[in-house]
Amino acid sequence: MPSAPAGQAPGFQRFRLGNLLVTALYDGFVPILAADLRGEEPAGIRRRLTDAHLPEQGDPHTAVIAFLVEYDGRRVLVDAGSGHTLGPDTGHLPAATAAAGIAAEDIDDVLLTHLHPDHSGGLVTGRGEATYPRATVHVARAEVDHWLDEGRAARAEGVQKVIHDAAADALRPYLATGRVDAFDSLDTLPGVRSIDQRGHTAGHSGYLVGEGDQPVLFWGDTVHSHTVQLPCPHVSIAIDSDEFRAVEARAGVLESVSAHGWWVAASHLPFPGLGHVRRAGDGYSWLPVHFKPVGVPG
Ligand SMILES: [Zn+2]
Repeated sequence: MPSAPAGQAPGFQRFRLGNLLVTALYDGFVPILAADLRGEEPAGIRRRLTDAHLPEQGDPHTAVIAFLVEYDGRRVLVDAGSGHTLGPDTGHLPAATAAAGIAAEDIDDVLLTHLHPDHSGGLVTGRGEATYPRATVHVARAEVDHWLDEGRAARAEGVQKVIHDAAADALRPYLATGRVDAFDSLDTLPGVRSIDQRGHTAGHSGYLVGEGDQPVLFWGDTVHSHTVQLPCPHVSIAIDSDEFRAVEARAGVLESVSAHGWWVAASHLPFPGLGHVRRAGDGYSWLPVHFKPVGVPG
């Protein structure tokens, strides 16, 4: 198991949001490169980055975050971190989870926003065994059909080939034991509604969890570079499977969360990745959650 970086606080933060106890779990960081952002003049993208005190080449330390959601006696992990797929800057989710006092055996369900390795690689150990021995994995059928299609995998090259192989490895022990729920519209998990966000990948899904008028939307990869894609939601990223649909999906989700005032739990915003989205000019801005001890009201 990769160890947490020395000399830093354990990579978890816990928040009570309505009827949910949400624990943000830090898996590590990846670079988001300016050269991969499309839809704006490169000079404009570079200027947004440098205005935000980031290198003009991009943000080298974009967070990778998974979330544990506890409600009604259920423990649900939203995304599973990178595991051993992306090198030593990532794969710290098990250490963060252990520091939060949660054992892998405690997890009842894993919701995957999609099957890219920074979200699904941690489903398996370095030996290819299931990290979560009791959990059922829920993931959109369109996502499974795309990444586990043997013909498409055989024809894939470069990073696409890596993603196909990693997705198959991540699901293998769960498929072998009948613990993959490949859904068209998630209806097997009470209190959770899937939100179709296809575009970034074929089955990219958000999950709306919680009661009343303040639910939490776990939006996966709706935004990779908050510095660029919140003020300019029409900017796509090279790894999007369908950049046009990814831009459409982002526009719809940003409109919804800002209009409804929902909490957002985001895989790639600064840790802990929880906050609200507010309209700002032609785009949006991010209002991060404030740290407070669990149990403090308000
Ligand atoms: Zn991601």
